[in-house]
Amino acid sequence: MVLDDLGSSLRGSLDKLRGKSRLDEEDVEEIVKEIQRSLLQADVSVDLVMDLSEDIRERALNEEPPGGTSARDHVLRIVYEELVGLVGESTDLPLESQTIMLAGLQGSGKTTSAAKMAWWFSKKGLRPGVIQTDTFRPGAYDQAKQMCERAEVEFYGDPDNDDPVDIARKGKEELSDVDVLIVDTAGRHALEDTLIGELEEIERVVDPDRNLLVLDAAIGQGAKDQADEFESAVGIDGVVITKLDGTAKGGGALAAVDRTDSSIAFLGTGEEVQDIERFEPSGFISRLLG
Ligand code: GDP
Repeated sequence: MVLDDLGSSLRGSLDKLRGKSRLDEEDVEEIVKEIQRSLLQADVSVDLVMDLSEDIRERALNEEPPGGTSARDHVLRIVYEELVGLVGESTDLPLESQTIMLAGLQGSGKTTSAAKMAWWFSKKGLRPGVIQTDTFRPGAYDQAKQMCERAEVEFYGDPDNDDPVDIARKGKEELSDVDVLIVDTAGRHALEDTLIGELEEIERVVDPDRNLLVLDAAIGQGAKDQADEFESAVGIDGVVITKLDGTAKGGGALAAVDRTDSSIAFLGTGEEVQDIERFEPSGFISRLLG
């Protein structure tokens, strides 16, 4: 962990501890307040922020720093460990054959993320393909096809078929020779029974190894309900946070990670196929606090 990963005001509070050998409650409270301010501004839910604050207070005041460690380094280590605990490790994605299904509301960035992920796997030397089952949103087929062409990955969709489950079944046959099959699904404006029912059927047909929930970085407090719905319908193994190139920092998505007991797999950072990053805790923490 480098100090640069933390926001400047938090760095300032930590710097005040320079030369101190023991922490008192006031020192810890100042640091906790700085962290709270940054995380709440980044849309992290109040519950998660409160739990984290309690853990930091408890550990900073009760844990004995290892011999020779300054008060500042001691609290810095605890803060970092707790923040890593908050954001989690990256979703495990072995570089081998697998099927991944994407779920999420309309506009969250599923179609874009499907092509981006396919591009990412192709750069790792695997042969990916995308199935577009979104028959609901006009333009979804063309958008997916064009993005997959740009990513130079295989694609299956059928603009003349309005049955997403049938498209999924045929796509699976058509793309039987790819290594990584990525299945894009339709989203609606809100969670409706038909959307969830359709998703469950597609899941039965494609039998994914992983289901990823795609969330807009600006999701805020709505993440919890979405996560609960998708988790109970198909089970969520990881989260993709999109649009991190905008002003939103994506902290709301952590509630979804928490509710589904999952982790973050990818971050979307733009509209082009190569605008994708594998999630990695320290970079995300500096984004949240920065
Ligand atoms: P879907 O309805 O969930 O399939 O969402 P789309 O993939 O169509 O994305 C909705 C809009 O968000 C499109 O205009 C995308 O270009 C845009 N978008 C998706 N991901 C990102 C991203 O990471 N950054 C930016 N700036 N725009 C994105």
